[in-house]
Amino acid sequence: MKVKKRLDIPCGQTYLFELEDGNLLEAGDVFMARERAYGTRPYRFADFDAPSDHNKRVMTICTMAGCPVGCRFCASSRTFKRKLTSTEIVGQVLAMVDNGVALGRDADPANAHEFRVLYTRMGEPMLNADNVVASVKELIRRWPHIIVGMSTSGFQKGVDTFLQSPDVIPYVDMQFSLHSTSDSERRWLFDGEIGTKMMSIPQIGESVRAWAKHTERKTSLNVILFDGFTYDFASLLEHFDPKDIWLRLSPWNVVQKSEEHGFEGMLRSDDVLHKRPMSSEKLRGIIDDIEKLGIVYSYAPAIDEEIKYQVACGQALEAFRLEVQESEKPKSERLRVIAA
Ligand code: SF4
Repeated sequence: MKVKKRLDIPCGQTYLFELEDGNLLEAGDVFMARERAYGTRPYRFADFDAPSDHNKRVMTICTMAGCPVGCRFCASSRTFKRKLTSTEIVGQVLAMVDNGVALGRDADPANAHEFRVLYTRMGEPMLNADNVVASVKELIRRWPHIIVGMSTSGFQKGVDTFLQSPDVIPYVDMQFSLHSTSDSERRWLFDGEIGTKMMSIPQIGESVRAWAKHTERKTSLNVILFDGFTYDFASLLEHFDPKDIWLRLSPWNVVQKSEEHGFEGMLRSDDVLHKRPMSSEKLRGIIDDIEKLGIVYSYAPAIDEEIKYQVACGQALEAFRLEVQESEKPKSERLRVIAA
């Protein structure tokens, strides 16, 4: 797996890797101060300025080259090339360890107080569940104190594969993408044939209960707060025990595909800058509801930083694709754009 591109960010690296068959993968390796990992305000990567390798190391990896799911807000939507083998999945972690050493980092992630590998980049892990479970087992074998984050839109067969591997579950923070509390809106967001096979909210609730029998780790329900969508969090309590879940409120990342669908995100610049009050009455109302219901919640990284540092799925690859597109334009056309 060779490095095609490396982007240095304030607390780590974003990588583009090239596989032997020419497919490109994106991955990230960042270092954070453990005690400031989560909060009830969006955090900034700069908060973790010059962290030691011995605090918290977080890697983000792909499970597929491209993705067959049609999430209308995601840069990886319907770009599927192929599933990755378990060796290729683990290979991204090993490649980041090796490249980190070349940058003066600790050669053994086990020396970090907390070492997390998040399956959050390109690909839907539950549609490649056998290889994903095998890769998790290999990571646990190498680093027994590892914590694995598994981000899924929710496909029953894959979740069941995990539930049949209870030895792996205590190492895994499961994250389901919700994005709305209405299943019909969710189906619209996860567009196309594959979207119709996704788990409904009651089915996710059932799996979370089954999961909770094997671990005390809460399952995360990821929510991008889109303007105009339904966020009736009280209705979730019909299917979830608040002690089993936490809500992770994510910014909406402007990518070409989400722009085409005219999305408006509810987390805006004043939230990012840690100012109160929240950007709108509507958003404040949603947060008040969550707090009254006693559901634990936190924020993903601040909006502008997710984009700038290409940390969300598909973004590094999309930035690279646009860069290549631009460089392939005839010189005269590029000069016209600069002049404009
Ligand atoms: S959000 Fe995940 S499942 Fe949806 S298109 Fe992107 S990578 Fe695929």
